[in-house]
Amino acid sequence: MKLFENYSLKNLNTFHIDVKAEKFIEIESSAELLDFVKNYDMNSKNILVLGGGSNILFTKDFDGTILHLTFKDHQEISENDESVILEADAGMNWDDLVKYSVEKNLGGIENLAMIPGAVGAAPIQNIGAYGQELKDSLFEVEYLDLSEQKFKTLSNEQCKFGYRDSIFKKMLKKNFIITKVLFRLKKNPELILNYGNVLSELKKEGISNPTIKDVSNIVRKIRTEKLPDPNQIGNAGSFFKNPFVDEETFQKIKNEFPDVPYFKQDGKIKIPAAWLIEKSGLKGFRKENVGTYPNQPLVIVNYGKATGKEILDFAMFIRQTVKNKFNIVLEHEVIII
Ligand SMILES: Cc1cc2nc3c(=O)[nH]c(=O)nc-3n(C[C@H](O)[C@H](O)[C@H](O)COP(=O)(O)OP(=O)(O)OC[C@H]3O[C@@H](n4cnc5c(N)ncnc54)[C@H](O)[C@@H]3O)c2cc1C
Repeated sequence: MKLFENYSLKNLNTFHIDVKAEKFIEIESSAELLDFVKNYDMNSKNILVLGGGSNILFTKDFDGTILHLTFKDHQEISENDESVILEADAGMNWDDLVKYSVEKNLGGIENLAMIPGAVGAAPIQNIGAYGQELKDSLFEVEYLDLSEQKFKTLSNEQCKFGYRDSIFKKMLKKNFIITKVLFRLKKNPELILNYGNVLSELKKEGISNPTIKDVSNIVRKIRTEKLPDPNQIGNAGSFFKNPFVDEETFQKIKNEFPDVPYFKQDGKIKIPAAWLIEKSGLKGFRKENVGTYPNQPLVIVNYGKATGKEILDFAMFIRQTVKNKFNIVLEHEVIII
């Protein structure tokens, strides 16, 4: 365990907000984590687990203790004719796990390439991209129950996954720290090609019978062209979730914009938040240090020296403008601290 005081988080959040944590503790194993929880008064101060800081906006210094899990092993623990169970520690980099599974020709998470962050954070919002979600291949989650000071597991079903949602955002609230995630990866998966421009990009490359690796590489290519690299321009990916709307609201929008894009999911209608922001005149819009990214307006970017408060104010402005135009309230996907 390593303890730092008054620790800068600038390189530990992808918005690169220059805030400090009162205490910052690196935890090197599950056993060390349990030991820490047993010996520390968890109710005395604010505690936050920080992975890659790619889904967080810090609006002020963190008055409390930040825990950062650095254990990052992974191993295949069993297999049958169809699949392999792969176990990964919470501190492992998510994209390293994707690369590993792709190299082993195991399918299930190849479309989730290049999502920043740690494995331990991935189940919290059920990360998703290009038609795939974590829930499609998650087998089990191991977590430390902080009140009972015991490790427990939840099956895929018990995690109650939804769109950018899980039990971890609701019932378990702050009473848990994820320590391991297990996946069931397929030896002969059905590849997901019909989302975004995956298929057309494959065609452009002359690939008619793609492998797991081809699909993952195409997703990497599309993402590199479309999304800002957080190492160059601070951002946290999609700032808002895509909203679900009722039939009446949808019809009103369709009357004005017959070409409105939408998806039907669980009997509900989902409209891309990026489209709503664009049609509100805010694609590529910039106010001093903060703006919407010109290639993907759902991403709010820090052009350099923005504070967390400036970014939050900008996001609230976007939300209000979209509400005024469409009467739809965008919900933020990024966690605001
Ligand atoms: C350029 C870019 C692209 C992105 N693209 C996508 C995308 O395509 N799809 C998508 O779904 N997301 C995307 N994201 C968002 C983000 O990468 C994911 O949500 C990711 O899973 C966050 O991981 P993290 O380790 O950075 O979490 P953090 O930001 O560090 O933490 C997020 C939340 O999880 C909690 N947490 C973290 N680890 C643990 C743990 N072990 N136990 C308990 N709580 C924990 C934190 O306290 C916090 O509340 C993108 C972000 C960026 C910057």
